[in-house]
Amino acid sequence: MTTDDDRIARLSLLEKAALLSGDDTWRTRGIPRLGIEQLWLSDGPHGVRKQTGSADHLGLNGSQEATCFPTAAGIANTWDEPLAEEIGTALGREASAQGVDVLLGPGLNIKRSPLGGRSFEYFSEDPEVAGRMAAAYVRGIQSQGVAATPKHFAANSQELRRMASDSVLDERTLREIYLAAFETVVREARPWAIMSSYNRVDGVYAHENHHLLTEVLREEWGFDGAVVSDWGGGNDAVAAVAAGGTLEMPSPGFMSAREIVEAVRAGDLDEADLDARVAEVLTLVDRTTARVRAQVDVAEHHALARRAAAASAVLLRNEGATLPLAPGTRVAVIGDFAETPRYQGAGSSLVNPTRLSTLLGAVETSDLDLVEFARGFHRDGTPDPQLQAEAATAARRADVAIVHLGLPETSESEGLDRDTLALPRNQEELLRSVRAAAKKVVVLVSAGGAVEMPWAEEPDALVFAALGGQAGAEGLLDVLTGAVAPSAKLAETFPRRLADTPASGRFPSAGPVAEYREGPFIGYRHSETAEADVAFPFGFGLSYTTFAYRDLVVGPDEATFTIENTGSVAGAEIAQVYVSRVDASSVVRPALELRGFRKVALEPGEARSVSVPLGERAFRHFDVETSSWQVESGAYEVRVGASVRDIRLTDRVDVAGTVAAGTPDPALAAYASADVLDVSDEEFRALLGRDIPAHAETAEIRVNDPLLRLEHAPSALGRLVFRVLDGRRRALERRGTPDLNTLFLLNMPFRAISKMSGGFASPTLVDGVLTIVNGRALRGLGQMAVAFARGRRSERAGRRKFRAQSGGES
Ligand code: BGC
Repeated sequence: MTTDDDRIARLSLLEKAALLSGDDTWRTRGIPRLGIEQLWLSDGPHGVRKQTGSADHLGLNGSQEATCFPTAAGIANTWDEPLAEEIGTALGREASAQGVDVLLGPGLNIKRSPLGGRSFEYFSEDPEVAGRMAAAYVRGIQSQGVAATPKHFAANSQELRRMASDSVLDERTLREIYLAAFETVVREARPWAIMSSYNRVDGVYAHENHHLLTEVLREEWGFDGAVVSDWGGGNDAVAAVAAGGTLEMPSPGFMSAREIVEAVRAGDLDEADLDARVAEVLTLVDRTTARVRAQVDVAEHHALARRAAAASAVLLRNEGATLPLAPGTRVAVIGDFAETPRYQGAGSSLVNPTRLSTLLGAVETSDLDLVEFARGFHRDGTPDPQLQAEAATAARRADVAIVHLGLPETSESEGLDRDTLALPRNQEELLRSVRAAAKKVVVLVSAGGAVEMPWAEEPDALVFAALGGQAGAEGLLDVLTGAVAPSAKLAETFPRRLADTPASGRFPSAGPVAEYREGPFIGYRHSETAEADVAFPFGFGLSYTTFAYRDLVVGPDEATFTIENTGSVAGAEIAQVYVSRVDASSVVRPALELRGFRKVALEPGEARSVSVPLGERAFRHFDVETSSWQVESGAYEVRVGASVRDIRLTDRVDVAGTVAAGTPDPALAAYASADVLDVSDEEFRALLGRDIPAHAETAEIRVNDPLLRLEHAPSALGRLVFRVLDGRRRALERRGTPDLNTLFLLNMPFRAISKMSGGFASPTLVDGVLTIVNGRALRGLGQMAVAFARGRRSERAGRRKFRAQSGGES
């Protein structure tokens, strides 16, 4: 008998059930009589957000100070795993210093569309980059005795209706694109926890999805940690236990525990499943040692954040070697973002930084000669000819105008997808007037994801800064002055127009079902297969030096080649290894797929031979018929590139696979050419291998419908509630801040009223609410009154009983 078994045997049924849900917003329950401690969980992915005062999971109330690193979208552009691990270690150390046992990150969902509101929190459109960068974070975080919680598992692509949306996709796309990054993290970094997502995946909520949580995650990948629900993402507590969902957060009070106890007693839930979940909680408690508090050197972490920001900045254009700027260059700094930086996104990942640098401040203390600063534009988009004219005058007086543009806070946030990829028009107009006035123009763009840049050829130099964290401005300055040679490359495709992106028109889905009709053809998998035009391709980024590639040798397990720094300054190159099928294939495939990468730092004139592993995973595909990974025998091409569109070396390799090549399914003809902007029902059905689920919502509002359905509620009261909520959202957005609270409420299903109320609003009470909004007010009120009294009574009784049994305070 293991220690766990021993402890489990000593727990009462109620204690076991109660361990599977949170005590409050951030804590698990403990069992003092057995020394089982409570754990503290905090966000998040690019900095610790520990709240000790009023708690919320939306970034609304304050939190303790912590280093704000660049968000994942920026770090992904570094393709630098050791750097990601260093950041992970710093995050783990800060978490430990603040007594946080479980850190809720990294976020590694695949960017299905650049419109996704949380793109800034995620790494890439490609699972190889996302998985490996996330694995590095996990290793770093856990090296400090803090559990990492890669999230959100899985296929969590849109913010609209985020808790009330069903991601419908074919199994092959699920495995090869949306799960692959999680597979890498689990297999390579062995996280102690993972966060299930809000959405359903093919009809079943992620937190109670047996296929995802048990068959794939635990049985296939060997995950041995705890599955934590997203906040309010629990639906059926009993189904979750049976499916492999460990911990429901935040606190549903004792409601879920009561349901679990009753289900075991009634024989509807196997107690062995309950014991397995309890063992996972105990293992998490045992593994986390953060209660031994680490020390943090704030200045050192700020310096790391600065290095990371410089490494994340992607040089997209540099005509006539405009950059780097020599000491003494007379510069005008223009743009609201230079004074008030946009350095992180809104929502649960919001960090209260220990320091905050601005571009203006950084330039002022540098060797550059600051001639003038001009604000240039209002970030809320309001046109202002006066500000524009002042900026043009400033630009005229200087030798170089540094124009800092970006996306405003309202356009990128948890809870809210973007509706355009364009920058606000007033910024584009400002750029035009500065361009007309200035000798040289350098544009910096702060944004958490791809933006349309129809003006990209106007400036002499263009740098995509992502969201650079608290030292973002200093990192940018290092790139501008050449203290650091830029080495970042885009981990997502920058399309010319939103309409060119494969999910456009379908994203985000406004109804209950999100159909992933484009299958695996997202990002470069689409553009390179369909031979579509893009603004900047995946993997693209310039430096102040140049690199040559030679001597590719492809062996059975690796590709070896030599890279040489052929320029005159030190720099780092990110070499990308893509695999492309040469022989006919029985499955539709993207023209090429990234299977490995290496970042190499080289002095001028230095050459180095590098090897990139190419295991079986480099050639595999998921075979839906046998539900297994297979490798098709035959010829593949290994292409080594400086970007997906800049292939420098190519070699062929014959692979002895596990299956012979077959003939492609004629029903999937459109997919073969990645012609996926307008997939017919017939083709999507063929890809899915089953019927497309119905979208229709009943006229009656149901418990798992989002509150935004109140807009068309049968009752006038329901419609009024919607108008009030929506009015509040709009008013705050006009003031320049996304109203996360209201967005959360609107996208939240009715069931969450009970899940998020600490147990006082029972499901029966929510039924009463539904009766009212569906037009039967009196009846609903009656139901609510009875349910309220009963709910309070059983909640109190549950709490008393648990306290008496466990010897605790809960
Ligand atoms: C977010 C998670 C976050 C959690 C706790 C949710 O709203 O989706 O990413 O970890 O809140 O703050």
